[in-house]
Amino acid sequence: MADDIIEVKPEIAATAHIDAAKLAAMVAAEARDAEAFWRTEMGRVAWMKEPTKIKSVDFTGDVSIKWFEDGVLNASVSCLDRHLARRGDQVAIIWEGDDPNSDAKVTYRELHKRVCKLANAMRRLGVKKGDRVCIYLPMIVEAAVAMLACARVGAIHSIVFGGFSPDSLSSRIQDSECTLLITADEGRRGGRKVPLKANADEALLTCPSIRHVVVAKNTGGAVEMMAGRDHWWDAITSGEGETCEPEPMSSEDPLFILYTSGSTGKPKGVLHTTGGYMVWASFTHENVFDYRDGEIYWCTADVGWVTGHTYIVYGPLANGATTLMFEGVPSWPDNGRFWQVCAKHKVNIFYTAPTAIRALMRDGEAPVRKHDRSSLRILGSVGEPINPEAWLWYYRVVGDERCPIVDTWWQTETGGILISPLPGAVAQKPGSATLPLPGVKPALVDNDGNLLEGATEGNLVMLDAWPGMMRTIYGDHARFGQTYFSTFKGMYFTGDGARRDADGYYWITGRVDDVINVAGHRMGTAEVESALVAHPAVAEAAVVGMPHEIKGQGIYAYVTLKAGVDSTEALRKELVAWVRKEIGPIATPDAIQWAPGLPKTRSGKIMRRILRKIAANETEGLGDTSTLADPGVVQELIDNKVG
Ligand code: ATP
Ligand code: MG
Repeated sequence: MADDIIEVKPEIAATAHIDAAKLAAMVAAEARDAEAFWRTEMGRVAWMKEPTKIKSVDFTGDVSIKWFEDGVLNASVSCLDRHLARRGDQVAIIWEGDDPNSDAKVTYRELHKRVCKLANAMRRLGVKKGDRVCIYLPMIVEAAVAMLACARVGAIHSIVFGGFSPDSLSSRIQDSECTLLITADEGRRGGRKVPLKANADEALLTCPSIRHVVVAKNTGGAVEMMAGRDHWWDAITSGEGETCEPEPMSSEDPLFILYTSGSTGKPKGVLHTTGGYMVWASFTHENVFDYRDGEIYWCTADVGWVTGHTYIVYGPLANGATTLMFEGVPSWPDNGRFWQVCAKHKVNIFYTAPTAIRALMRDGEAPVRKHDRSSLRILGSVGEPINPEAWLWYYRVVGDERCPIVDTWWQTETGGILISPLPGAVAQKPGSATLPLPGVKPALVDNDGNLLEGATEGNLVMLDAWPGMMRTIYGDHARFGQTYFSTFKGMYFTGDGARRDADGYYWITGRVDDVINVAGHRMGTAEVESALVAHPAVAEAAVVGMPHEIKGQGIYAYVTLKAGVDSTEALRKELVAWVRKEIGPIATPDAIQWAPGLPKTRSGKIMRRILRKIAANETEGLGDTSTLADPGVVQELIDNKVG
């Protein structure tokens, strides 16, 4: 498959923060003197005491990562207070409800006030620096207020996605021994109500560490309140003052814990600290999205995921942006909702996930074309490899070939984007996350940890630290070293595989646990899936290895067809021939199963771990399926297994 190249658009480069020349200068400056480079960039955040020590990192032994360590700051001040003089009346958050008729705008001044009031109330409830606070909220403004109020008083927030069950909530609260829970009566998603407080009540039966619960009134639905423990948000904040002294935080004091989504097993409490994370959030948000003053920026993620932390709240607010928070889903009331919201709020920068793009592609172009998207300037993608077919559809249909696409590769662990094109500086290739950002040192290694040079394929590692990387797994520093630094000594192992082409561009091939080995040929799942998705009848595909007597592993493909396409035997044969032609005979699928739905995490990622077990007939021990969005699809796939 020849790779398309989408050159940098002169009109984007002309006004971009970073064009090709600037990027080259930044990369050179960072290589010459990294400390000097970050000493300048650290000015992006408001310090109470400027750091003198920039970086102290050791990826060996006990693994220690520190940035700006003698600096003192408070993240909420960088996001709020310092903007008040210039931007007090600027909208900080545009909130768009699940119901298309409900929205709200909150200025920086108003947000500051609401954060201070809640922070004061939290202090009154006994919350102090270092305490863990669990946030279990829908996508309402209160979620951002709660995060910033925690930061204000120095409490460590741990957000649990509102779609998680009482069990998942309980285990996360227990793991980090949270003392306060902030939730709402109910959430709304796709026209349905989610019983958050009832879920929380059930979870709290097994969470003795929780002393207080703050409940935001959202839908007004009936809930039970336990006297002494549960407090209505409005009642406890109404009498509080509108200013609140920010807690002075050391740069390396924790800002938040976030449990990874669990695509690969038991969730880990990823811990991020304050100074380096905030610098990284601001640096990447401004440069990757080329954010310019006054623009409307929309990231469709949920604050329950790291993308919501860094690119709905901390990055945009640190940069004085207007950030849109969306309560709903792309398919409700109809599948034109994303574009209707873009038209309504004149969105300039739009950031979503491949799973959403593939789902919307199934329904064709009409729902997109119906809405005015002329305000859009930059498009972004995150969460999974984006198949070239989906990339081109996003580019052509959504962006009218006008908007660069930034395919951003990163992880909960990395705190922010590491590999991505910069829209004014880097030509894009559909399906490639392209090049590392300045200060990011990726490398590919073989299974013995030997560095691989040039155009090649291997395990993706990072050779050095960047300011926003995780510092530990909460309560288990040994597991941190074991998980990320023991596979390849002295390197951070991402768990992903990648190919690097002759231009030095990175192509993420998927998680290395998902790699298929057919008769000695290693194959990333992304490549075979992209070949299938490139067929006009296919909406989505998931590929796993299955035991094969001769080849060691064979290729088992689960295929979701586009709306209105019949699943015939002829089509099955056609798809097998298609993949052979696109990639080569070695990639010939041994089995294709029609899959009306695929098992996905609640953030929309395909869970191949489960598909692998189904393909191997090992359906007894499917492992932890509690983070699946729709556990029902698993039984359907088991019942219709082929071969
Ligand atoms: P867990 O670590 O618990 O299994 P997870 O890895 O899905 O869950 P995240 O940290 O949200 O949790 O996701 C990071 C992973 O998502 C990356 O390691 C990579 O596999 C994938 N990913 C994210 N963005 C991209 C991208 N632009 N291209 C390719 N893959 C991506
Ligand atoms: Mg991961």
